[in-house]
Amino acid sequence: MAPYFNFEPPRYRTTLDVVLDETFPPVARCRLLSEGVKPYHRLALVEAEITGDKGCLACGNCVDSCPILRREPERLEKTEQRTSMALESIVGDDCEQCYACILGCPQVDTSLKDYVVDTRLPEVIAPSKTMTFLDKYLMAVVAIAIGVLLGLFLRT
Ligand code: SF4
Ligand code: SF4
Repeated sequence: MAPYFNFEPPRYRTTLDVVLDETFPPVARCRLLSEGVKPYHRLALVEAEITGDKGCLACGNCVDSCPILRREPERLEKTEQRTSMALESIVGDDCEQCYACILGCPQVDTSLKDYVVDTRLPEVIAPSKTMTFLDKYLMAVVAIAIGVLLGLFLRT
């Protein structure tokens, strides 16, 4: 099955953008926009068919990756749960829209993560001034240095 949100048809992109625009933990809704457990999973389940299940695995990756909870670990004392629901209740409207929870969730499709990286992360990661400076001028300095060394070498 084709990913729901991957560029075509555009209405799914719009849905994802609405989710990403909101200042609220997005991981649960991104899970639901994904395809769920893939048919090639390796869980040895005899009686349960879990292909396509979009449920939270309670792995805690989203909780661990949230910068707000790393800065303010006392928020974690409000619950022992490590689920997307716990993330929503202890972060809520304070979400900084960094999208780390989406990227860390095993139940969110890779193509959705690609979309987030391609369209959203450049907006939240400020370019390093040092790297921008080096990008602009380092090669010129290196070229001059090589030229000088080459000139010295050829004179001898
Ligand atoms: S990881 Fe980022 S996007 Fe997710 S809830 Fe925390 S601040 Fe919001
Ligand atoms: S990262 Fe883990 S705990 Fe968080 S929503 Fe995804 S499956 Fe659930």
